[in-house]
Amino acid sequence: MTADTTGVQTETTSASETNTTTQTSSNFIKTIINEDLKNNKNGGRVQTRFPPEPNGYLHIGHAKSICLNFGLAKEYPGGKCNLRFDDTNPTKEDVEYVDSIQEDVRWLGFDWENRLYFASDYFEKLYGFAVELIKQGKAYVCSLTGDQVREHRGTLTQPGKDSPDRDRSIADNLDLFARMRAGEFADGTYTLRAKIDMSSPNINMRDPAVYRIRRFHHHRTGDAWCIYPMYDFAHCFSDMLEGITHSICTLEFEDHRPLYDWFLDQVKVPCHPQQIEFARLNLSYTMMSKRKLLELVKTQTVAGWDDPRMPTIAGMRRRGYMPESIRAFCEAIGVAKANSMVDMGLLESCVRDELNKHAQRIMAVVKPLKIVIENYPEGKVEEVDGINNPEDPTAGSRKIPFSREVYIDQDDFREVPPKGYYRLSPGKEIRLKFAYYITCQKVIKDEKTGEIIELRCTYDPASRGGTTADMRKVKGTSHWVSAQHAVEAEVRLYDHLFSTPNPAEAEDWKSILNPKSLEVIHNCKVEPGMRNAVAGTRVQFERTGYFCVDSDSKPGKPVFNRTVGLRDTWAKIEKFQKG
Ligand code: ATP
Ligand code: MG
Repeated sequence: MTADTTGVQTETTSASETNTTTQTSSNFIKTIINEDLKNNKNGGRVQTRFPPEPNGYLHIGHAKSICLNFGLAKEYPGGKCNLRFDDTNPTKEDVEYVDSIQEDVRWLGFDWENRLYFASDYFEKLYGFAVELIKQGKAYVCSLTGDQVREHRGTLTQPGKDSPDRDRSIADNLDLFARMRAGEFADGTYTLRAKIDMSSPNINMRDPAVYRIRRFHHHRTGDAWCIYPMYDFAHCFSDMLEGITHSICTLEFEDHRPLYDWFLDQVKVPCHPQQIEFARLNLSYTMMSKRKLLELVKTQTVAGWDDPRMPTIAGMRRRGYMPESIRAFCEAIGVAKANSMVDMGLLESCVRDELNKHAQRIMAVVKPLKIVIENYPEGKVEEVDGINNPEDPTAGSRKIPFSREVYIDQDDFREVPPKGYYRLSPGKEIRLKFAYYITCQKVIKDEKTGEIIELRCTYDPASRGGTTADMRKVKGTSHWVSAQHAVEAEVRLYDHLFSTPNPAEAEDWKSILNPKSLEVIHNCKVEPGMRNAVAGTRVQFERTGYFCVDSDSKPGKPVFNRTVGLRDTWAKIEKFQKG
C-alpha cells in the first residue's frame, strides 16, 4: 500500500492490495463490519488499530491480534490499521519494547505506513476531556486511599458506598485536579474518579479512577507529567481521536465496554468507535502472560526474550519459524467468542508446511557414527548431486563430496535390528542418499567399554546415484557426510518449555519447567556448504527436521536451532525411501 502526500491512503491502491490478499474465512467480526458497511456507518470506513503496551516483547497471542486487525484493514477497500503504543503506564515501559514491537509487526508482514501513534501524544487532550467531565459534574477528586477505595467498592452481590468526596463542588474539583497536575500532592494522595453509579451491578461502573498521581519518568514525555490516565479512560479517547471504527480487544474487556461507551457519550466527539471482543489465544505447553515471560527472562531461565523456546515472535523468528506460517496459523485458528486452548501441534504443523516448500535440504549428522568403506579407493573424492528441494523444481541441485570415510547417524544403525528395522545392521545393505549402496561387514568396538567405534562396510560401485544396474532394491536409506569434508556444528534441540499442557494454571511455574527443554549437541557433522552459513538461514536436515542457523554462529562454526522435527511416521519414511 502507498499513501499520498497527505497521508491518506487512496482507494485504488488499497483495492489492488486487496486483490493480492488471499481470501480469508469469515468470522463474527466481519459480519459486524459488513453490516456496518451496508448501513453506511462511519461513512463506509474501516479503521482498526493494534494497541500494544510497550512493557514486553510480542508473543504469538499478539500475533493473533495483529493478523486480525491488520488483516481486516487489508481485506476491506480503503481499510487502515494503526499501530498505537498504549504507553500510559510509565512504570513498566521501555523503548527497547517500542523498537522490538515495531520490528516484530513488520516481520510478520504488516505495515502501518504513516500511522504510528503513541497514547502519550494525547496526554494534553486527555487532560482536557477529564476537565470537561469535571465541569459537567461527572468526575470528582477523591482523597480515599487505595485500600479505602477497595472497601467502598462493594462486591458482586453488594453495592458500593459513595466516597465522602463525591459531592465536592465543581470549582473545588477543578482546582484540585489542576494542582494534582502541577505536582502539589504526593503520589497516591488523590485520584480523579468518574461519577457514575456506586450501586451498578457492573463493578467497572462504580466510580472508576480516571487519573492517578504517579511520579515516574516516561519514555517519551519525560517528567512533564506526574498524573497519568487510566487505561479505560485513555483507550476509548485514543481510539476516537484516531477515527477508529472498530476497536477490537480480548474478552476480558467485555465488562469494560459500558465504561468505554460512557466516557465517549459524556463528551462531544466526532465519532464513537465500537468495541468488539474476541477470545484470546491460549497455546498448550506455554503461556502468554507478559509478566511471567519477563520473569523467565529476568531469572535467566531462558537466554532472553528471543530464546527459541519462548512463545515470543522474536523467539519464533530465531527458532526458524517463517512469518507465513504464523499468519497461516492465525487464520487456521479463526476468531471466536469463547476462550479455548489451541494445541501447539497445530502451530508446528503450519511451520512444517511452509518450511517444506522453502527450506533447502542438507546432509547433517547430529550424532555421528563413522563408516569406513573398505573397497573404496583411498584418497579418492567424488561429487554427487544432491537435490536441494524435491518440493521445488526451481531449487536445483548441489555437489556433495563423497569419500572413503563417511558419517551416518547413530540412529541409523542397530547391531541387533528390531523387527521391521530397515536401516543398517550387520550383513545388511542400505543406500547412502544420492550416492552408493553399502553393506555392513564388521562392527569395530572399544575393547574395554564395548562401545561401537566405527563400522567397516563395502560399497557397490555400480550403484552410484542410489540405484543399481540390476535394479536390486534396498529398503533403507541413510543421510551421510564425508568425514574429511564435514564441518563441525553445534545443534540445539528444543522441546516444550513446560512439562504440563496448561502451565498458566500452575501455582508455581518454576516447578513445571521441562528440564529437557534444551539439549545442546556438539561435534555434529554437516555438509561443507554450511561452513559459513548466514544466521537466519533455514534448512532441512535430511530425514531429521528443520533447522535454522543461529546468530551465535561463527565463521567455520555454525550453530543450528531445531525449528521443528519431521513427522516421523512410517508413511513419511517409506516415501523418503522410494525417493
Ligand atoms: P497486559 O497485561 O500487559 O495488558 P496484554 O497481553 O493485554 O498484556 P497488550 O500489549 O495490552 O498486552 O496487548 C496488545 C493487544 O494484543 C491487545 O489488544 C490485546 O487484546 C491483544 N492480545 C494480547 N494477548 C493476546 C492473546 N493471547 N490473544 C489474542 N490477543 C491478545
Ligand atoms: Mg492489555
